Formats: sequence, C-alpha cells, structure tokens
Amino acid sequence: MSPEKFSEPTLCWICGSPCSGSRVTCSDECHEKLVDRLESEFGIYKKVVDIETGKIHRVPTRDIIEKGLRQQDMRRYPEWSMTCQ
Ligand SMILES: [Zn+2]
Repeated sequence: MSPEKFSEPTLCWICGSPCSGSRVTCSDECHEKLVDRLESEFGIYKKVVDIETGKIHRVPTRDIIEKGLRQQDMRRYPEWSMTCQ
C-alpha cells in the first residue's frame, strides 16, 4: 500500500466506485458512459482557442477527456471554420 493512494482518493464519476491511478472512472464501461454524457452535454467537438495564435480549433471532446489538452497539441486539430458549426 503506497501512501499516495490515501492522499488522493478518486471516485468514479459515473458509479462512485474507487478508481485506480489517475483515472476518473473505474472501468472502460463507465469511461464510455462518461464520454457519452459529456458529448451530449458539450457536443462531440469543442471549440478551443489557441492562446498563442488566437485561432479556434475543433477538438473532439473525447480527446480532451482521454488525453487532456496541451498547448502543443492544439495545432494538430483542424481550425474551426464558420461554415461547420
Ligand atoms: Zn464506475
């Protein structure tokens, strides 16, 4: 038992069971439910502004949940054009 397991107890966002590591859900099943829930709430893509260039990028909500979003990843995503809302 490592002490950091006690300092940061994480409970599954979906069912409330304890999670391991840095995950926010306890299982793949709950993870998929979380992605579904957030996609229906925020949309499949989110508009994210690159603070360096001021451009808006079209970033899949799933990627933000699964990988997080770092500044250097931003330019890998296509720019959000006005014609595709
Ligand atoms: Zn769960």
